[in-house]
Amino acid sequence: MENLAQYADWAYLIGAVLFILTLRGLSSPATAVMGNRYGIVGMTLAVITTFFVADLNVGLIVIAMVAGAAIGLWRARTVPMTQMPETVALMHSLVGLAAVLIAIAAVLHAGNQHDAVHRFELFIGCFIGAITFTASVFAYGKLAARKWARSIKGGWVKPVQALLAVGMLGFAGHYFSTESLPSFYLMTAFALVLGVFWIAPIGGGDMPVVVSLLNSFSGWAAAGIGFTLNNFMLIIAGSLVGSSGAILSYVMCRAMNRSLMNVLFGGFGAAAGSATEGEEGEKNHRSGSPEDAAFLMEHADSVVIIPGYGMAQARAQNAVKELADFLKEEGVRVSFAIHPVAGRMPGHMNVLLAEADVAYEDVKEMDEINSDFAGTDVVLIIGANDVVNPAAKNDPSSPIYGMPILEAQRARTVLVIKRSMAVGYAGLDNEIFYMDKTMMIFGDAKKVAEDILKSLSGTGH
Ligand code: NDP
Repeated sequence: MENLAQYADWAYLIGAVLFILTLRGLSSPATAVMGNRYGIVGMTLAVITTFFVADLNVGLIVIAMVAGAAIGLWRARTVPMTQMPETVALMHSLVGLAAVLIAIAAVLHAGNQHDAVHRFELFIGCFIGAITFTASVFAYGKLAARKWARSIKGGWVKPVQALLAVGMLGFAGHYFSTESLPSFYLMTAFALVLGVFWIAPIGGGDMPVVVSLLNSFSGWAAAGIGFTLNNFMLIIAGSLVGSSGAILSYVMCRAMNRSLMNVLFGGFGAAAGSATEGEEGEKNHRSGSPEDAAFLMEHADSVVIIPGYGMAQARAQNAVKELADFLKEEGVRVSFAIHPVAGRMPGHMNVLLAEADVAYEDVKEMDEINSDFAGTDVVLIIGANDVVNPAAKNDPSSPIYGMPILEAQRARTVLVIKRSMAVGYAGLDNEIFYMDKTMMIFGDAKKVAEDILKSLSGTGH
């Protein structure tokens, strides 16, 4: 057994290296599939090794694994791309719940005496897990627009948050010094409620950061379980998820030009509401048909396509790719511009475009393409709104002021495909829709893209 444990350390080490290679692979669409394969091999190795070394009830574990795999396979096959963000949030919640249950099991384990270090790991792992659990379930509710997941606002929210945090830390401290079980349970209960009160006031525009932060939390919770179970594979894997999620949150905050503290405690998105809906009727916009759009694009030298949440919602990516291919064959320079928080999850647009087989070299990140807009003939905005809202640059009173945007307004002509003049996720009106050089093409993104293509192929150059 001792020998096996020695080999297990080697197997875990190889697993940890494979996880690092996974993250490296996932950092670029070109290497993402390979990265995923490293992850699958690393995880399989870790699971098999654990079976050999741990004192496990194999029957129970196999039943749980088969049930989990069946549910996972079913969800992976059935979940539409548009519901990925809430699915991801729900998965984070399970990691949090696992951390809480394992911490409680460790605390209750008969005859277990916990030294100070162990008690410290236990309460930290447990309360991070508890906050991750309820916060992720609530984030799921918000992203899936469930009625029970309403935002809360008001001056009373912050004092309640503070009280819950103080209560949680107070009971954690009491458990640490006395090993009192009731204090452990009360700390867990306070952490569960704090998770809800922490997420509920955070508004729409800030959800991407919250999702990646919860990803980070779920990693730290897993690392906490690793300490509790003395399993260093879990500690490494959890720390990798925790730190990569934290880095992603930081990168996203920078993409929105805000600090993490401001996102978490500023309540920006909630305040945005449906601010300027009333103004819509007073402003004029120009609308046109798919044929008009086809005409403008086929006579352009350069077209930049900006996809947003509406493209995902309409599942228009394949139609858009065909449209881009047709234009390219006609000699038009076509590229895609991606905003870091376009859609409803980090990398949402990259995933959709990769799924539609759009060439990586045609996909440009915001920093890369913003300087090109002034020289672009036509920008085609497909179901994007907040990420092209010039208020972020021009209107100091706007809640999104300072957030970097794709500067589509600088192109010679702007075409916008969406179904109505309705606001986007942050609930703000968008002046780009009312510019003289803008033409709105109303309709479902997929249908309009197909109609534009029909019109193009009907006329040619
Ligand atoms: P927005 O939500 O700002 O705008 C999407 C637009 O798409 C809407 O105005 C809507 O207008 C239109 N639309 C919806 N369905 C369709 C359809 N079937 N056909 C055509 N148009 C459609 O999306 P953006 O991508 O511009 O911005 C993303 C926003 O989401 C940001 O505020 C971001 O912070 C937030 N967010 C991002 C996350 C991430 O991780 N990326 C996670 C959570 C939120 P209409 O109804 O008139 O059709």
